[in-house]
Amino acid sequence: MTGPRQRIAYIDHAQELGGAEHSLLDLLARLDRDRFEPLLVHCADAAWVEKARELGVQCEALLGMSEIYRLRRDEIQRGLWRNFQHAALTYQEARRLTSELRKLELDLVHTNTLKAHVVGGLAAHWIGRPLVWHLRDILGPEPAREVLRVAGRRVRPHVICISRAVAETLPADEPRRTIIYNGTSLERFCPRQPSAALREELGLPTGGRVLTIVSRLTPWKGHVVLLRAMRQVLARHSDTTLLIVGEAAFWNADYVGELEDLAGELGVREATRFTGYRQDIPDLLALTDVFVLPSTDEPFGRVIVEAMAMELPVVATATGGVPEIVKQGETGLLVPPEEPTVLAEAIIRLLEDGELRREMGTRGRERVLAHFDARRTVRQVQELYERLLVPA
Ligand code: UDP
Repeated sequence: MTGPRQRIAYIDHAQELGGAEHSLLDLLARLDRDRFEPLLVHCADAAWVEKARELGVQCEALLGMSEIYRLRRDEIQRGLWRNFQHAALTYQEARRLTSELRKLELDLVHTNTLKAHVVGGLAAHWIGRPLVWHLRDILGPEPAREVLRVAGRRVRPHVICISRAVAETLPADEPRRTIIYNGTSLERFCPRQPSAALREELGLPTGGRVLTIVSRLTPWKGHVVLLRAMRQVLARHSDTTLLIVGEAAFWNADYVGELEDLAGELGVREATRFTGYRQDIPDLLALTDVFVLPSTDEPFGRVIVEAMAMELPVVATATGGVPEIVKQGETGLLVPPEEPTVLAEAIIRLLEDGELRREMGTRGRERVLAHFDARRTVRQVQELYERLLVPA
């Protein structure tokens, strides 16, 4: 592409830093600035945006205070009156955003969250710019899915799906879709010696094995099943510790306490560490023996790729996009969701076989190099921009 840089507005309504925002920051960090000029459009109270600013990205708090952004997906209800209210609020907010976006002289709009797909999508449509939806969710038969389908018909986005499983949730007659897997930084997630100081900080018993889950603390990530499995793991290997890394969403702050209580009831509390949100995920993974993610439905699971990049074997559920990442028996073990005994057996099998852990770990990093390198992701996204930005 020759000529001036293309201005791209990324729209993300999240207040907190989740996987979608980590992926967006990875993209912003690697975007070819000679060709593209990124601009992040966000809500006023989003502290994570500071990380984009540190990358030299212009950040604009142009998403208003509309109630629409606070609404959780499961609060989007059926029913004529609520539908009408939400539609009216969405329209109002999209109109307001349109006039803001008009001033920015954009070439393309890239939306990163469900509400941004709808509100930002309408605004992009009204200013007549190409639109990319970065679809990162698996929507069940819920009202939000219908909202997205209706909006999609109107604003005609090109949809980046983060896995085949996500793509399969789109209507079959939706042709403008590209599967682009999330990538990870192979420099940041690079195997290293475990830190003795960190082991001490976490109170890990000398010589004991470590299981780790990294994720938001939210029911569908499967912590309950993992705690139940932990009881069976401890019965065989009493020196095992479970690291539960991550924090609960702000609207679900009590969940940590609930999990701690459950761990107490199951008799696994002493062998479990709730670390809260951590910045040092690679170091935590470096002292891990087996990585676990027992989600009930996982659109992708960046953390699995991160663990594989750190040469860890993975035990995860065969749901959503996970089987596209983890090769059964080669880079990890896939189990059905909600089955603590099967989960425990898979973990125990790996805990008892160091050779298998090492083999799976090595193959895991190779697989990440081949398919889930952040540079590859960015290259594919940029290729898509170039296709969409070709003058008609
Ligand atoms: N993460 C982190 N610290 C934590 C918990 C999570 O840095 O304490 C990061 C994690 O490394 C990953 C992202 O948050 O990059 C979570 O992404 P994933 O796709 O696994 O989950 P999502 O939140 O999108 O469901």
